[in-house]
Amino acid sequence: MDALAFPDFDGFPLEKYMTREMSILFNRGCPRKCAYCSLPGTTPTYRSRSAQSIYEEIKHQIKKYPYIDSFHDDSPALNSNLKELSGLCDLIIQDGLKIRWSGFASINKHMDVILLKKMKEAGCSGLNFGIESGSQKIVDKMRKGFRIEDAADNLRDAYNLGIETVANFIIGFPGEEEEDFQQTLEFISSNKQYISYVGSSASCWIGPYIWLYEHSEEFGIIPDQNFSGWSCKEVNDQIRNERGLRFKKLLDSLEIGKSYPQLSEKK
Ligand code: SF4
Repeated sequence: MDALAFPDFDGFPLEKYMTREMSILFNRGCPRKCAYCSLPGTTPTYRSRSAQSIYEEIKHQIKKYPYIDSFHDDSPALNSNLKELSGLCDLIIQDGLKIRWSGFASINKHMDVILLKKMKEAGCSGLNFGIESGSQKIVDKMRKGFRIEDAADNLRDAYNLGIETVANFIIGFPGEEEEDFQQTLEFISSNKQYISYVGSSASCWIGPYIWLYEHSEEFGIIPDQNFSGWSCKEVNDQIRNERGLRFKKLLDSLEIGKSYPQLSEKK
């Protein structure tokens, strides 16, 4: 990726968008293989970018567009390569560059408080986490590759350092029993003080290029009209909707902000 030219906005009226934030890519693809995600099927190769290359792009863009003071990383996860991320922070801090940046992040036990502190010092303002469930059983079925404790640690450490945290959840993943859903509600309740917003509480979409689609029989998934809907022993539309309502009720009672419409509000 370092060999690619920086994005060129010449001729595009950026200033009309009333924003001081610019999109950037720290990497492409994703090293993880979550069971519900189409990315591993559509973009199977993960490509990282060096800290120096990202830093040069940031400097290039703020020189060209001086009103830009923040960047949103639109890659699947800005922390896929912690070594380069740490190196990027070093470069920003050494140069005294005053910018803010944010993006999606995967739960990672190696993103410890020392690294998060450095990220904050380098301008990290927000991390958007795909936590998806408070049940270790479901997180494992999702092939997320983290422990629930790691999710709690990442949220707490980031939030305590002043980094905005967004947590996203999937309601009604195949195999999600009442007990698993309860664990999700409990996870949110016990970590509420470290969650700035709940991003989404989506149902699980299944379709081509998705691991679940290829392994639907393994999960006991019964497709409806070529996967426009689906059910399994543990979950169907009625259960999903009912859990969506309880999820929303919990967020309301805890007064946790929401940055997108929730499952129960999409009707
Ligand atoms: S971490 Fe995110 S982008 Fe990567 S495979 Fe999982 S859901 Fe997809």
